[in-house]
Amino acid sequence: MGDIATGTDVLVVGGGPGGYVAAIRAAQRGLATTLVERDAVGGTCLNYGCIPSKALVSATDVAYDAGHAEHLGVHASPTVDVGAMSAWKDGVVDQLTGGVERLLEANGADVLEGTAAFVDEHTARIAHGGEGQGMETVEFEHAIVATGSRPVSIPGFDFADEPIWSSREALATDAAPAELLVVGAGYIGMELSTVFAKLGTDVTVVEMLDDVLPGYEEDVSRVVRRRAEDLGVEFHFGEGAAGWEPAGDDRVEVRTETADGEAATYRAERVLVAVGREPVTAPLELETIGLETDADGFLETDDRARTSVENVFAVGDVAGEPMLAHKASAEGIVAAEVVAGENAALDYQAIPAAVFTDPEVGTVGMTEAEAAEAGFDTVVGKVPLGANGRALTMGETDGFVRIVADAEAEFVLGAQIVASEASELIAEVGLAIEMGARLADVIGTVHAHPTLSEAVKEAAEAARGEAIHTLNR
Ligand SMILES: Cc1cc2nc3c(=O)[nH]c(=O)nc-3n(C[C@H](O)[C@H](O)[C@H](O)COP(=O)(O)OP(=O)(O)OC[C@H]3O[C@@H](n4cnc5c(N)ncnc54)[C@H](O)[C@@H]3O)c2cc1C
Repeated sequence: MGDIATGTDVLVVGGGPGGYVAAIRAAQRGLATTLVERDAVGGTCLNYGCIPSKALVSATDVAYDAGHAEHLGVHASPTVDVGAMSAWKDGVVDQLTGGVERLLEANGADVLEGTAAFVDEHTARIAHGGEGQGMETVEFEHAIVATGSRPVSIPGFDFADEPIWSSREALATDAAPAELLVVGAGYIGMELSTVFAKLGTDVTVVEMLDDVLPGYEEDVSRVVRRRAEDLGVEFHFGEGAAGWEPAGDDRVEVRTETADGEAATYRAERVLVAVGREPVTAPLELETIGLETDADGFLETDDRARTSVENVFAVGDVAGEPMLAHKASAEGIVAAEVVAGENAALDYQAIPAAVFTDPEVGTVGMTEAEAAEAGFDTVVGKVPLGANGRALTMGETDGFVRIVADAEAEFVLGAQIVASEASELIAEVGLAIEMGARLADVIGTVHAHPTLSEAVKEAAEAARGEAIHTLNR
């Protein structure tokens, strides 16, 4: 194919949850929309992130729970075929990415395979993959940059080396390593540690900071760490990975160092480096349109997803924290609607975060400390899951629900939930914050019994000193 030129109203660069959602909404609004993706529609989330990881979290839960249910009178010793489990996970990914492709088409968005780079503020060059595939020039009125992020590597640990995994290789494996050294105890490191520990791998985690899930409150991290320890995961805090070398027998030896220069070594079959993700902008040639990134490489945007270049928008991981799929999609919707001339903007106060460890973590809004820092006089209600009937019937009593509200008007400001299904439970508090609900609204909502969601209501009651099923403090 030679060099051809086409025109479009909206060019969306990147087909992850930021980009594909933006493209569908733009097309729904009657705008001629072209989405360009260089790898796989669905982006990191559907292909290498949220979806494959949650498929494995669920599948390993089934195997682990079945094998650890003697106290329920269930005796079973499941054997896991990791290859078959991985094939099932790939099927889930294919089903979802195929669905996204069909939705793009059905809504009238064109999809181009290739890598986009800006030529000027209204022109992009698309380099198609593969030899002799040629170039295409697309002229556009508006562009929405949704190029996402990639895993951060650490010096000396190259993901091209077979024993060194990013989350992507970890999720693609069809055999569980005998030992896995995980570098980094953030949410990705902790979710995958849980998956592999449940597959029977000896998991060791080294983390520079002093607890798991850095950035979360101490009582949240503690529940997750203790449960991981119960699964056999070994933690070494205050250590950073410094280098590795082959140690024979398909093993590597990894050297770590503390801030004081104290060294330790670990032997493992595979090393998962999960120390964070960084924005992807390199191939875009942003300088040709005068668009600069901030010190961390992100594109700065306002609450309408606008960058400093009038007709160029940015959404998702490339536009900054929190690097989460639902935040990417919410920004994608806003960008498309603003391009369509609507008065859309994203309210960032109620963006939830979920960690799919065992138990799960769900947070939304402000912590008590954040609310105090924002000038609120706070009331807090915290109830242990052990006081919830449904949690007992599930044998899942680790964790708690905490609600933070403002003391005077009792507006719900935030929640931290550590519980089985916390990722689902947090939605109720997100809605409460979004609607400006008060504690009385949550308390006055009759919750079905017996459900975990009753713990959310009970936490709201506890914030008023009116809990029924736990002592008020
Ligand atoms: C292991 C793991 C688990 C995760 N779990 C969760 C979770 O449970 N919940 C959650 O909310 N988030 C989760 N995330 C984060 C989530 O995947 C990201 O926040 C989300 O994918 C961001 O969406 P995006 O559209 O901004 O970017 P991406 O999904 O990264 O998509 C960007 C796309 O742009 C394409 N691209 C880049 N440059 C160009 C170019 N120049 N031309 C053409 N195409 C280009 C890329 O190929 C990619 O497909 C997880 C991530 C990982 C790695």
